[in-house]
Amino acid sequence: MTVGIPDGLERLWTPHRMTYISGADRPAEGYETPTGCPFCLAPERHLADSLVVARGERVYAVLNLYPYNPGHLLICPYRHVPDYADLDPAETAELGALTQTAMRVIRQVSQAHGFNIGMNQGPVAGAGIAAHLHQHVVPRWGGDANFMPVIGQTKVLPQLLADTRDLLAGAWPAA
Ligand SMILES: [Zn+2]
Repeated sequence: MTVGIPDGLERLWTPHRMTYISGADRPAEGYETPTGCPFCLAPERHLADSLVVARGERVYAVLNLYPYNPGHLLICPYRHVPDYADLDPAETAELGALTQTAMRVIRQVSQAHGFNIGMNQGPVAGAGIAAHLHQHVVPRWGGDANFMPVIGQTKVLPQLLADTRDLLAGAWPAA
């Protein structure tokens, strides 16, 4: 997630997104229905291959499969709803609480200097999977968007996703 108009560099920085952009892993039924929706399926996966970091009562946190930065989390309601205004008060409160916890945990384990937090609402606003609400929590470090052009296509995501998941899940406070 970047501020302003996306440019070509953004794609160079995020090679993990290329699978998604190319549609190679798009289910036949599409993302729009719960049966093909990765945010409906993620909490049901076996723990071993799950990228879920924390499970709340109504909302959960999962690593973005196509991160902009290491530790890029998505905070999702279990319910398959597209719009922030669709959340009931309890879901809204828990989404906020998990976002706060995510920030604390990421700061603790990786000393993030800042964050981009937000939701893209609708395909026109850049939501890749618009049918299921998800709040991005993207840690930022000073210089993370500055030195990358020097190394061009070799955007380094130094931790494998499973290792990142274990690191964050291990630091996540018990409910
Ligand atoms: Zn869904």
